[in-house]
Amino acid sequence: MSRQAKAPASDAALPSLDQFAAGKLTQLEAQHLRRTLIDSAREGGIYIVRNGRRLISFSCNDYLNLTQHPRIKAAAIEAIRLHGVGAGASRLVTGNHPLFAELEVRLARLKDTEACCVFGSGYLANSGIIPALTGHEDLVLIDELAHACIWAGAQLAKGTVIAFRHNDTSDAERLLRLHRARHPHVLIATDGVFSMDGDLAPLHELAALARRHDAWLLSDDAHGIGVIGGGRGSNFANGRKADVPLQMGTLSKAIGGYGGYLCASAPVIDLVRNRARTLIYSTGLPPATVAAAIAAIDLIEREPDYAALPLRKAKAFTRQVGLPEAQSPIVPVLIGESEAALAASRLLQEEGFLAVAIRPPTVPEGTARLRLTFSAAHPDEEIARLAGIVRTRILKS
Ligand SMILES: *Cc1c(COP(=O)(O)O)cnc(C)c1O
Repeated sequence: MSRQAKAPASDAALPSLDQFAAGKLTQLEAQHLRRTLIDSAREGGIYIVRNGRRLISFSCNDYLNLTQHPRIKAAAIEAIRLHGVGAGASRLVTGNHPLFAELEVRLARLKDTEACCVFGSGYLANSGIIPALTGHEDLVLIDELAHACIWAGAQLAKGTVIAFRHNDTSDAERLLRLHRARHPHVLIATDGVFSMDGDLAPLHELAALARRHDAWLLSDDAHGIGVIGGGRGSNFANGRKADVPLQMGTLSKAIGGYGGYLCASAPVIDLVRNRARTLIYSTGLPPATVAAAIAAIDLIEREPDYAALPLRKAKAFTRQVGLPEAQSPIVPVLIGESEAALAASRLLQEEGFLAVAIRPPTVPEGTARLRLTFSAAHPDEEIARLAGIVRTRILKS
């Protein structure tokens, strides 16, 4: 049992570090913001066993169920046999096992760029790329709803950071008119698919804006690769390629494993390999993880109909509930207050569904929600049952 659980009266006797931690936790508790980790065992592509109950998960980012795919598991096991369990060093020292080059060629081809650099994770990628390309004199313009790791990267770059209104190209243009002249370089950064809302960024408009103002456009396609644009990502949505010179993303969602990447021109990738501190000072990904990503890309390229299923299923759900049509496999069901969102999540759990409530500060105040994610393996009849409950008992429309 932890000390703090035993006797708050004895707080004064705790070392100051523990007192500090216990005090912060009490504050979070009072705001209903304290979080806990729950053992969640995956079973097959879509089931999770939690607290002794088997639930169908609508809260995984495993859109293509590739975390559990036999061919991908076999590729990872074979890589361990051949190369061992770890890279043994940073990629720039001796950790660059031969699978990296193969994965980078495959990603660059998928994204139609000259080159690619693989990082330890998506978070590490943005934390390394943005400070490698911009510095204290530069400006980084970020969509207000963009992912936390874009903000982290921009802070490490130590330049000026300004948010533009969500998906509002005119607001971004207004800011460029005001500030562009004062900065040698400007980076515009956005999610390609927004992780909590599931909507797509207007990448064609942002690309045109970036060209007009000589700014560099970065899109974070963590939730687009594998599932949008025939598996090639959100800048290939609707069959029209958007001109995004910095295409970043993760290997931990539809790709099913772990890792991050940047696809870009050869000189940009060369520079990033020389300057991104999260690449230079962090150990290379394990061989099994890199092999799994290669096998996943194989599957996505060979089976575009399978890659299209998560979005198709999300659209079926939004149609059945009467929500705006899904643009990605992520569908938010807006509830409002945190406690109501938690109650909705509990109701679904009683019906055998796992749909985690997302609360502030992850989403803006007053927009607590269920964030549903659809995968290729979700049975149509379970989607229909979920839609019925959401429509009649949660939204009551
Ligand atoms: C999940 C996510 C990341 C982080 O990727 P990891 O590989 O999990 O570190 C980055 N950006 C967005 C938009 C994400 O949703």
